[in-house]
Amino acid sequence: MNNFHTHTWRCKHATGTVKDYVDAAISQVGATSRSPLLGISDHTPLPDNRWPHVRMDISELDAYEAEFREAESDDIILLKGLECEWDPIYEAFYRDELLGERGFDYLIGAIHYIKVPGDWGYLSDIRTPKHLTQYAKIMIATMRTGLFSFIAHPDGFGAGYMKWDNNAIACSTDILTAAEELNIPLEINGYGLRKKELSTPEGERPVYPWLNFWELAGNYNIKAICNSDAHRPEDVHASIKECKEIADRFKIGLIDDILNSNSD
Ligand SMILES: [Zn+2]
Ligand SMILES: [Zn+2]
Repeated sequence: MNNFHTHTWRCKHATGTVKDYVDAAISQVGATSRSPLLGISDHTPLPDNRWPHVRMDISELDAYEAEFREAESDDIILLKGLECEWDPIYEAFYRDELLGERGFDYLIGAIHYIKVPGDWGYLSDIRTPKHLTQYAKIMIATMRTGLFSFIAHPDGFGAGYMKWDNNAIACSTDILTAAEELNIPLEINGYGLRKKELSTPEGERPVYPWLNFWELAGNYNIKAICNSDAHRPEDVHASIKECKEIADRFKIGLIDDILNSNSD
């Protein structure tokens, strides 16, 4: 089983080293004829150390990379990644330093923050149509950069926006249209299935995947990728099966190898 979304102790809200994830993946999958792919994608450090409470410091990048060299194994193909927030001020950092000089195998594009008056708001602060518009706009800008192998939890706005109304549909339509046009995979993220369910006016539901979003996605010619978004080694492959069932249910095509996904 492949997985490309995992976090380490360095982001301050996860546990385990890169090696701990490699060991967990090998013991769960066992030796197979074809080596599984394991991507580690901790929350990226940022050159200006923005949002420091949920990511490593920029000074830790060398040590993060060293962890990959120490964790190499013949039983698994280990990919060096990071989960990134898009802001044009970070373009050179992502393109030239991470993908360029440092040779990262892949970057994930993710939106965790939007600007709410006075400060940054988290996904759970998304409440209004205006927030949704901003969320879709940042996500589409993230896709357009061409820097990211896939977009993490595109339905993450459902962490704050409770109703599947015309505004939620408009936001989702914009995201799905762009993903189809730009041929960028969207992630069905298993972490939301392991969080406490949300009570909404429409009943209880997982934070994400939001089924209404994926039902709509079934109308588009997009590809999805299923990941655990593990925040502890024992969850390295958690919830991926459930995510694949969602894709099957809505007839959404899946990829499970990001290295070749952009070449077709
Ligand atoms: Zn995280
Ligand atoms: Zn993540």
